[in-house]
This record gives sequence, structure tokens and C-alpha cells, in this order.
Amino acid sequence: MKEKTTLVWCQRELRLQHFPALQSALQSSDKVIVAYFHDPEMAIGEANSAWLAKSLLALQTSLREQGGELIMLEGKFADCLKEALEFYRPQQVFYSFEVGTPFFGQQNQALDFCQSRKIALQPFFSEFWFDPGTIVNQQNKPYVVFTPFYKAAQKKLSMLQPLQAEPSNQIGDLGKTKVAGKFDSWTKLPPNLQEILDKPWAQKILKHWNVGETGAWSRLHHFIENHLNDYDEDRDFPALEATSLLSPHLHFGEISSRAIYFELQALKEQDPSLNIDPWVRQLVWREFARLLMWYFPNTEHSPFQTKFEQMAWDVGPQDLSVWQKGQTGIPIVDAGMRQLWETGFMHNRVRMIVASLLTKNLNQCWLEGKHWFDDTLVDADPSNNVMGWQWVAGCGVDAAPYYRLFNPLRQSERFDPDGEYIRQWVPEIKALSAKAIHAPWENLKECHIKGIALGKDYPRPIVDLSESRKEHLERVESLKQVV
Ligand SMILES: Cc1cc2nc3c(=O)[nH]c(=O)nc-3n(C[C@H](O)[C@H](O)[C@H](O)COP(=O)(O)OP(=O)(O)OC[C@H]3O[C@@H](n4cnc5c(N)ncnc54)[C@H](O)[C@@H]3O)c2cc1C
Repeated sequence: MKEKTTLVWCQRELRLQHFPALQSALQSSDKVIVAYFHDPEMAIGEANSAWLAKSLLALQTSLREQGGELIMLEGKFADCLKEALEFYRPQQVFYSFEVGTPFFGQQNQALDFCQSRKIALQPFFSEFWFDPGTIVNQQNKPYVVFTPFYKAAQKKLSMLQPLQAEPSNQIGDLGKTKVAGKFDSWTKLPPNLQEILDKPWAQKILKHWNVGETGAWSRLHHFIENHLNDYDEDRDFPALEATSLLSPHLHFGEISSRAIYFELQALKEQDPSLNIDPWVRQLVWREFARLLMWYFPNTEHSPFQTKFEQMAWDVGPQDLSVWQKGQTGIPIVDAGMRQLWETGFMHNRVRMIVASLLTKNLNQCWLEGKHWFDDTLVDADPSNNVMGWQWVAGCGVDAAPYYRLFNPLRQSERFDPDGEYIRQWVPEIKALSAKAIHAPWENLKECHIKGIALGKDYPRPIVDLSESRKEHLERVESLKQVV
């Protein structure tokens, strides 16, 4: 009888545990190929690619430790897929369904190719908590406001099925994945990813993180033990390490969000005083974003609220560059942009503040901010990034009302009251008092006493916050009249 071969195509599920596509392949096949196809032209961004490179190496090491192998091909996606399928001749290809770019496009190409060659292509929806299309409102339409979605999701959570932890019931089954490549290079990190990984900036960013499945689980346990119970109270203060920092691990599927949910439920059963709901709510935001991207894929490039297509955004490369470099002269914004540059990450509260300044005070299109985040965030994620930017810009689902501009000074005073976060990332003004550090230009006397020359040691603010607020509101008002 002919040997049954399955190719497990990894997109963003760089783990061994809780991975149904891999488990099913191992259980139903004699031979399993675990493959990743890297198309440099379709990469989300540079920081994201640096993480990807390290995560692939971590996955390969885990597979090898259990007698298996990871195959990696680089080139145009369709060419890589074709080459691997023609070489290994699998009867079936298993993969986990993902949303956004580049995944939608690659999944369509895989479908066309497999159909034409009569190879069974099976998607698994295991990266979702709820299959797309199963949480809808009374009109059978997707929810576009978070709170009712959250309530509906809470009702369905009791039906959520856990995923099997181990890749296979039989020890040694991963040996089935020890398949030689056509070329030696297929078992090495693709050249483009290796080049990115070798860059000094990539090393600088990655030293802040423990990339890979083991790192993801230890990050989760560290968070549960130290911060989960205080999450609701502390999560908005960027100087505290109060959030999980799991977003890049979740983006790369190094840990399954569903497995996290069941881990929390088990802990809650042991210790009913554990306050898991506020944090689980954030994981539901993630689900919300993923489902929105499934329903409204065009929102990756266009505003959900179509009237914003008429918005008169400014084109200002200079403002954009000042914002990117963290030189706006508004300390909380500069702190966030510099944290991003140094670590590939920015605290959620600060993401909202910097995004509001760019889109509402500087009137730059949200896509400019999204592109910069795509390139610099290690957790850059098609659905979360789009939802975050459109929410702040006021053009997305459940968006911040157009008249709500985050006032960076008030936000800074409230969420970084001692200026600790600012001092960490904007050392030029660290001598300023907790009162003055949020707005040095309003505290010139103290700047003078502390020897800080505004415009020389630290920039004056790029924009007048109250004038620009008024101007932005006028623009949106006129937009309302156009429509
Ligand atoms: C303008 C803007 C852009 C953003 N871009 C991204 C992005 O590219 N990738 C990304 O993962 N998140 C993005 N977010 C959402 C959020 O900022 C990050 O998920 C969060 O800061 C990650 O930190 P954490 O893992 O410590 O989160 P925690 O507070 O510990 O939350 C746990 C997990 O829940 C999910 N989550 C939390 N907040 C949100 C949210 N608002 N929307 C969707 N999911 C959420 C994340 O997966 C996160 O890891 C963006 C937010 C804004 C305002």
C-alpha cells in the first residue's frame, strides 16, 4: 500500500503543543513534512521578520530534539509551495487558517495549486476561539461593537473545546517529520531571514525577549504569578511591567491563546480568588480583531467607516519622520516611539497616545502609522494593528469618537505621574521634576535651572496641541457635511 504523506504548512503556528494540524498529520500519516515558506516580498516588517527568524530556529531545535526536522524554503510563495509539493508528493496539506496579509493571499494560492494537482488541502480553525461566522448578532451579522461581542463571546466560552497538549499520543512520532530536503539549504534558515537576524539592530531588539514556545510559556507563568491579579489596576501604567508582554508570542503562535484560556480556567478552579476576567477580556479583543479581519478584509487598507475615505489627511514626511524618531518634543510620545525603536514593543496606553498625536494633531493618515508599526513592532499583526489604528483615528469599528483626542499631557500626568517611563526613554530631560517633565515647554524656568535648553537639548513641541485639536475637529465636521 502507498505510504501516506502529509505536508504541514506553518504560517504563524511556530509551536509543537496544542497544534491540531500537526497532531492530525502525525496521527493519520506515515510521513509528515513540517514546512515554512518564506517570501521576503510578503514579510510584514523588519522587526517582525527578526522575531520570525529566531522563532523558526527555536521550532527547528524543538523538532530536532524529538527526532524531527523543519524544512524552510525561500522565494516567491507559489514557487516554494510548488517546489516542495513536487518534491515530497504529499497526498494532503494541513494548515491553520490565518487572517490578513500575507496569509489570505497565500492561502488562496495554495488552494488554486492544490486543486489543480488534486492534493487535499485542509484548513484548521484552531487559531480562533470561535469559528468565523459563529458569533453573529440577531440580524445574523457580525458584531462591530466590542461590548455586545464580548457578551456574546462569554456565553459561548463554556462550549470552547481544549486542544490536545502533546503533538502526538505516541512518543517518537515526531521522528516521522525527519524528512530530508531536496537541498541542504532547506534545513537552514533562509538567507533573507539570516541576514536580518545578523543585523545589529535585530540583536539589540531581540535581547529583550525570550523567543520561542518555551519562552512564551515562561512569560505566561511569570505574568500569572506576578501580575495577573493586579492587571486591571496597573495595566495602563507604562512604567510598570504590569501586562503580559505575550503579544509577539501570540502573533507567532508560539503559544495557543486557547491553551492559555484553559490554563487560566484550571488555575481559577484551584484558586477561586484569581482575577482572570480583565485579562481574558483582552484576549477577546484579539478574537474580535481577527474576526473583523475575516469579515472585512478590505479594512487592512481602507477605513471601515467609508466616509473617512474623503478625509483630507496631510502629507507631511517631515512631521512623520520627527514622530518616528521620537523627536516631537512631547515627552510621553517620544518615550513611546523610542521604546518601540529600542525594543520592538510599545505599551498599549502609549500606542493610543502616539497614534492620536499622529492622526489627530498632525492629521497624518492612519496608514502611515500602521506601516511604521508594521515595520518596527515585533508583534506587528494584521488584525490587531489595523483595529488599533482605525480605532484611534476614529474611522474603525467601535472607534474612539471623532471628538476624542488623547491629550498627551493629561495622559502623561495620569498614567506616568512620576515621569518614570519618560525618564527611562527620554534621558535628556530626566532631571526635570515629576510636575515639569510632562510639558517642558510650559516649565521654562525649571528647564533653565536644570540646564536644559529647549530647541537644543530637547525639541520644542512639534505642534500646538490645542490649535491642532480645533483644526482636526473642523476637518471631521466638514467631512460629516460632505457625506
Ligand atoms: C495603534 C495601535 C496599534 C496596535 N498594534 C498591535 C499589533 O500590531 N499587534 C498586537 O498584538 N497588538 C496591537 N495593539 C494592541 C495592544 O497594544 C497590544 O496587543 C498590547 O500592547 C500587547 O501587550 P501585552 O501582550 O502585554 O498585552 P496584555 O495587556 O497582556 O494583553 C494580552 C493579549 O491580549 C491581546 N490584546 C491586548 N490588547 C489588545 C487590543 N487593544 N487589541 C487586540 N488585542 C489586544 C494581545 O494579544 C495581548 O498580548 C495595538 C494597539 C494600538 C492602539
